[in-house]
Amino acid sequence: MSAFNVAKFGGTSVANFEAMSRCAVIIENNPETKLVVSSACSGVTNLLVELANGVSNQERRSELLTKIASIHDSVLSHLNHSDEAAAEIYKILDTVTSLAEAASIQASKKLTDHLVACGELMSTHLLAQLMRERGIDAVRFDIREVLRTDSTFGRAEPQLADISTLAGEKLAPLCQKHVVITQGFIGSDAEGNTTTLGRGGSDYSAALIAEGVEASGLEIWTDVPGIYTTDPRVAPKASPIAEISFSEASEMANFGAKILHPSTLVPALRHDIPVFVGSSKEPERGGTWIRHNAETSPLFRALALRSNQTMVTLRSANMFHAYGFLAKVFEILAKHKISVDLITTSEISVSLTLDQTDTAGGAPQLPEQARFELEELCHVDVEHDLCLVALIGNNMSESKGYAKQVFGTLEDFNLRMICYGASPHNLCFLLHESVAKSAIQKLHTELFE
Ligand code: ADP
Ligand code: ASP
Ligand code: MG
Repeated sequence: MSAFNVAKFGGTSVANFEAMSRCAVIIENNPETKLVVSSACSGVTNLLVELANGVSNQERRSELLTKIASIHDSVLSHLNHSDEAAAEIYKILDTVTSLAEAASIQASKKLTDHLVACGELMSTHLLAQLMRERGIDAVRFDIREVLRTDSTFGRAEPQLADISTLAGEKLAPLCQKHVVITQGFIGSDAEGNTTTLGRGGSDYSAALIAEGVEASGLEIWTDVPGIYTTDPRVAPKASPIAEISFSEASEMANFGAKILHPSTLVPALRHDIPVFVGSSKEPERGGTWIRHNAETSPLFRALALRSNQTMVTLRSANMFHAYGFLAKVFEILAKHKISVDLITTSEISVSLTLDQTDTAGGAPQLPEQARFELEELCHVDVEHDLCLVALIGNNMSESKGYAKQVFGTLEDFNLRMICYGASPHNLCFLLHESVAKSAIQKLHTELFE
């Protein structure tokens, strides 16, 4: 199949009619863009997650439903031939209403996915109709026909071989005839149940779909003109990065830079698809190119911040000079499907952080039963309200002297955990949520300004 471009638009990019119209111009300006992946309209997923967590107060439920309806109504009111799209959207809103009622009685991860998927299912009706009214031959495609996942609701694992086959059969031929508008974030398992890839998952969807149709480029259109040296909302003097390598950008995404879902670059790297990140509000400002090899590889590239971290500290005198202790710990964690993120050890204790949470949101928790089993082995402490700060760069494990600069800058901060050495691309540490932003600001001033 001939090479083409996949463009992904995030929630703020499709927030309302004006924002969607800017997306349309971006799509129209690049004739190679044949496939468009859209998020839900800004704010909608949060409202749906609240409903999915179970709202028993009928008044609050109606309030949330009204808010969701009005976001979509406002776009419909700008369309000239909105009847068909409106009928589809009202049908989905009916589903939202009944699922929200069911969740208020008994919430579940499966139900959550079914419910939150409705955001993307609605926004794509609007974007496709808006495009058609501008004279583009756009068709809406339900990505659940292609984006096959396992049944881990809230954080489903894509099934790559199935996605590739289904994309080749169903999606690629459609893209040769039309501009295809489809949903990010959602998929379906082998039984046809709706699944989601976790919050912010539309970036990952776009990359998986780009891989599936063997696209030659992937554009991620968001609300900032590219990847910055740190979140510009945290450090206003952060500056855009013109070009960055896959490994550096992957580290940033993994360590919490919200600009990209952590898994986004895995498919792009696998198929060597260059990724562009830009602002749909200000496309003329350019953006960041993520490529296999960037021209520069500075020691310090960026700072990333990941909040909502949970740290578990396990202490036992039996650990001293013994073998097999960590194996037992990890056996318990594996049995409860708990994924560990960072880890540090000393003679009699080990601290670890629990991996990111799923679509339902909140800090990762240590399940009661897992805690009980660990307590049979050792003393268990759980700390919440922590933030992970990562300094990302190149050749860090081989460079001298910079740790003094970093830790000197942070001398007034209580660092709860430090990880360094495993990757040449990062140095990271945990500190309390309340001081994490000021730590980022101080480090940014010292290392990047
Ligand atoms: P979208 O809805 O388009 O997916 P997101 O809100 O998920 O957008 O991601 C964009 C946001 O990511 C920006 O508004 C910015 O606040 C945040 N962000 C975090 N780290 C960075 C970074 N290093 N560079 C740019 N933006 C970042
Ligand atoms: N709409 C989903 C979310 O808000 C997915 C995404 O936008 O990437 O998390
Ligand atoms: Mg996002």
